[in-house]
Amino acid sequence: MQQEFASTLLEGAVTELSRLPGIGRKTALRLALHILRCDEGVGVSLGEAIIKMRQGIRYCTLCHNISETEICPLCADMRRDHSTVCVVENVKDVMSIENTGQFKGVYHVLGGVISPMDGIGPDSLTIDSLVERVAAGEVSEVILALGATMEGETTNFYIYRKLAPYSKVKITQLARGVAVGNEIEYTDEVTLGRSLLNRTLFSDSIHH
Ligand code: ZN
Repeated sequence: MQQEFASTLLEGAVTELSRLPGIGRKTALRLALHILRCDEGVGVSLGEAIIKMRQGIRYCTLCHNISETEICPLCADMRRDHSTVCVVENVKDVMSIENTGQFKGVYHVLGGVISPMDGIGPDSLTIDSLVERVAAGEVSEVILALGATMEGETTNFYIYRKLAPYSKVKITQLARGVAVGNEIEYTDEVTLGRSLLNRTLFSDSIHH
């Protein structure tokens, strides 16, 4: 068998880098050679940052956002409105909504949306934990802020049905008519902020 690289160490680094999304073996080789050309400290810092991140970050036990502590800083912030919970697909969506500066409630990160094609059912997501939060009685509004995709809509409806027994809780969704079909992370901050402020009752969207 012909050896592709002169060094098995280089080959190992290229193999690991090429596991990253959007990185083919050619790009992985370019990155590895770049790291080799830089000062040794650059490569060491890169490796250490990845190890520290991987070992130091966990998920908030309340909202499932990434956190370095058991409860994330957003959930621990008593100045925020803990009765309003914004349900999002992933950690990037929390960042997008925080960047709008328009939301002072707390979040619930689902970890995906229901997608039978990809083998993602409700049990793979943190929906039960959302229901538990609502059942605890401190929540007055749940904002469904999932992308306007078919999977997002399916997940919205599933959550709406799950929360139906808690009739005192208002269930709303982001205003539509903007960026339909887009994942929310692609929506610009102004549009996202506006669709959050102009949110509508979810029940209004299913009766007609
Ligand atoms: Zn949290």
